[in-house]
Amino acid sequence: MKIENLLRNNIKTLKPYKAARHDLNIKGVLLDANESPFENGYNRYPDPYQNQLKKVISKLKGVEHNQIFIGNGSDETLDLLIRAFCEPKIDNIIIMPPTYGMYEVLASINAVECVKVPLNKDFSLNAEQVLAAVNSQTKIIFICSPNNPTGNLLCKNEINKVLENFNGIVVVDEAYIDFSKAESTIRLLKQFPNLFVNQTLSKAHAGAGLRLGMGFSSVEMIDVLNAIKPPYNINALTQSAGIDLLQQESEFQSNINLINQEKQRLYNELSKLSFVLEIFPSEANFWLVRFKNAITIHRNLINNGIITRNRSHELYCGNTLRITVGTADENTQLINCLNQIKSTQ
Ligand SMILES: *Cc1c(COP(=O)(O)O)cnc(C)c1O
Repeated sequence: MKIENLLRNNIKTLKPYKAARHDLNIKGVLLDANESPFENGYNRYPDPYQNQLKKVISKLKGVEHNQIFIGNGSDETLDLLIRAFCEPKIDNIIIMPPTYGMYEVLASINAVECVKVPLNKDFSLNAEQVLAAVNSQTKIIFICSPNNPTGNLLCKNEINKVLENFNGIVVVDEAYIDFSKAESTIRLLKQFPNLFVNQTLSKAHAGAGLRLGMGFSSVEMIDVLNAIKPPYNINALTQSAGIDLLQQESEFQSNINLINQEKQRLYNELSKLSFVLEIFPSEANFWLVRFKNAITIHRNLINNGIITRNRSHELYCGNTLRITVGTADENTQLINCLNQIKSTQ
């Protein structure tokens, strides 16, 4: 499969904007970009290729520098993928509800059809059904594992079946992979040039405010995204903060351990409540919980200053709330509040 053949025609023939200085690779007097010459830490345009940041990510993830893409949040990366490969009003993407809402939003913004192939009722992936929905206009399949809002990991054999049988782009969104014991799909990059693994600094790395998405794929795919991205999509402050954050490895690991410990405590406490009907298996930093009456609980929690996410309108998610694992103190507040609701019901 050739990535180039999948591209929209206007992207195939695109002449990207060139940030001249960064291709020259020399240090000198910088009079080329109409910047202010007064140094303050951010008077210069940032590195458009984020080379220092990529060096750190490359070491951390064991992926070559030229197989890494950095987006202004993964939302930017996912948007660029759709814009590179999907012709508006002609091509389509496939998603598997219930899943992350942004895939469909991004498809809509780009006037690209979003074909929905539901997960099984137990939220597992059915590769056969996904592949049956593929037509000649299907360019991207989005697989979210661990899935949001359900929390479960999708079966790697099923993901493999999709990768082996689909001649388009397969995005595996691993925003929550660091909370899981599962191996990353990054290990399959050599085998599948059409695989794009999406990760982020927004969850386990505690950097949601930075807006840093990490994409891993073949050199051909990364080259495409680099050619179409806004040249300075990652600002200078974010690049340096991202480098700092990714180097705090022991804090990263101990935070994950704490979250997983608290997640178990939350499970134990939630399962004691009479109005909790089901807690779905989760490999992420949240639980999807089915209540007798989710709306009442949701409102009650809000009245007590605790905000959870009502997912009741999502497919197969009737009467559910998605509850993020917080600090020990925050989780205790949640549990106390739920226990109080129990005593009034
Ligand atoms: C939170 C989340 C992301 C992260 O998006 P950013 O734009 O990087 O903050 C991506 N995918 C899924 C499924 C998520 O839940």
